[in-house]
Amino acid sequence: MTTTVTGTEQVTAAEAADLVKVYGSGDTAVVALAGVTVSFPAGQLTAIMGPSGSGKSTLMHCLAGLDTVTSGEVYVGGQALSELNDRKLTELRRDRVGFVFQQYNLLPTLTAEENITLPLAIAGRKVDPAWFDAVIGAVNLADRLRHRPTELSGGQQQRVACARALITRPAVVFADEPTGNLDSHSSAEVLAFLRRSVTELGQTVVMVTHDPTAAAYADRVLFLEDGRIVDELAEPTAESVLDRMKLLEVAAHAADDSAGSGGSAAHDPASI
Ligand code: ADP
Repeated sequence: MTTTVTGTEQVTAAEAADLVKVYGSGDTAVVALAGVTVSFPAGQLTAIMGPSGSGKSTLMHCLAGLDTVTSGEVYVGGQALSELNDRKLTELRRDRVGFVFQQYNLLPTLTAEENITLPLAIAGRKVDPAWFDAVIGAVNLADRLRHRPTELSGGQQQRVACARALITRPAVVFADEPTGNLDSHSSAEVLAFLRRSVTELGQTVVMVTHDPTAAAYADRVLFLEDGRIVDELAEPTAESVLDRMKLLEVAAHAADDSAGSGGSAAHDPASI
């Protein structure tokens, strides 16, 4: 799917159109996504932030075709997911989407190299040596390829997981709190790699994080609240992200307070 932005063709790697996700039904129904419309341009790193329970994981899972949607549509690389049967959806997840999880999820019996090339082996595809070298170079793991996960630090394991996510040249990589288990030094290495994969290798990354320092590596930060995108910030710095988070928190408390007092303060004559 392509959209024209100020005269230049901009390719969209993934997109959600009026996405609604409701878990359960009746009295116990939980609206996790309340109509999210967003597009992720190719060649950008986007961070998604928001309080716990705001719908970050649900949005990522729906975008990645890991969860069904209640209504609305998801596009990956221009393909509407609702048009795919189970087999085609599995293939799309395998070939067009990369995942990085907080827990690395590497296979312990395989070497780093075997873990990285596993998605290609499963798909019956050959390794492109030039792309393999580019990814390994960017992830700085050339001298660790024969090691097994237990012989690698947490940061190295997560870099292996990042390389595995990129080896198929997916339309988009989804990273769910990729630095959640790492110390600040290892976090910086993983984030630098995700940034390089976008800037130097032209990949597209969508990353959920609660850490303003991590979000500062992104081109754009989206803020979720109660299943809606409530704000966004371009070219973020850790300071500007932190400032925006504080403002959103104040606004959310004000909304809670006015809801608690029976209506909006702006409409209460006594408050003027
Ligand atoms: P976040 O990732 O921002 O913490 P989630 O996407 O995990 O938020 O959750 C959004 C809302 O949906 C929360 O209220 C959560 O309790 C609810 N939710 C998430 N997954 C399920 C599920 N499988 N069943 C029922 N409710 C769920």
